[in-house]
Amino acid sequence: MNSKSISQSSKLRSLILDPKSINQHLMCAICKELVIDPRECGRCKTLFCSICINTQLEQNQTCQKCSQNIQLNDPHPIIRNLISEIQIKCTNEGCSQQMQISKLDSHLKQCEQEKTKCPHSGCDFKDTLQQMKIHQYTCGYRTKTCQKCKLIHKMNEGHDCLDVVLKKVKIMEEQIKQQNIIISDIMLKVEQIHKKQNDKNTNFCSNEFEQNLDTPKSDKCQQNNKTCICKKGDAYQCIVCKLSEFLSP
Ligand SMILES: [Zn+2]
Ligand SMILES: [Zn+2]
Ligand SMILES: [Zn+2]
Ligand SMILES: [Zn+2]
Ligand SMILES: [Zn+2]
Ligand SMILES: [Zn+2]
Repeated sequence: MNSKSISQSSKLRSLILDPKSINQHLMCAICKELVIDPRECGRCKTLFCSICINTQLEQNQTCQKCSQNIQLNDPHPIIRNLISEIQIKCTNEGCSQQMQISKLDSHLKQCEQEKTKCPHSGCDFKDTLQQMKIHQYTCGYRTKTCQKCKLIHKMNEGHDCLDVVLKKVKIMEEQIKQQNIIISDIMLKVEQIHKKQNDKNTNFCSNEFEQNLDTPKSDKCQQNNKTCICKKGDAYQCIVCKLSEFLSP
């Protein structure tokens, strides 16, 4: 419990070292004890615990000191300061430390009796810092790296390197399968491109005009006689050297 929540709970009173030394101005006008989470009458500045005055307001709207219709204010900051300076003992049983309420938080961070939760995920162990130091060496939820397979596992989990390796093999097999699918997909595409290219070579001239396969071979090309005529009928073209010869009108 931190000092803010302590100062708002009635547990605070049981921690006060010397209740008799408390300034009478810090007492609640209703319960006559140290004000918890103080509120004040806006007219006469009388202090009340939040709980005490809220309970009273359900039945009676007048201040018992000044007999006026009550208007609640937050008290002057000095009131909270005075309360935060009250000497208390540590909230942890077994701890003999004494401090001002305002110093409780910083004390709890190092209090030997403060209970903390084991930091290992999954572990519910809660104890003092001292006990925690011992627990750290035995906690079943602490992790360990297997020297053989480098897998990090919890101490209380059975670990079998073979299992780990088999799992890895399975994952790799699955990856290879996926890659093979990708490769055969690429192969198919390459094949399609080759086929298209071949079709082009046999059926189209470089102007991408469709060949007229019925056209007799021309002797225009000096290098070979494989010549096509474009379907448009305005040019011969050699399939191999791509030289075009325009038809004379
Ligand atoms: Zn009260
Ligand atoms: Zn009043
Ligand atoms: Zn303590
Ligand atoms: Zn643990
Ligand atoms: Zn292993
Ligand atoms: Zn040619």
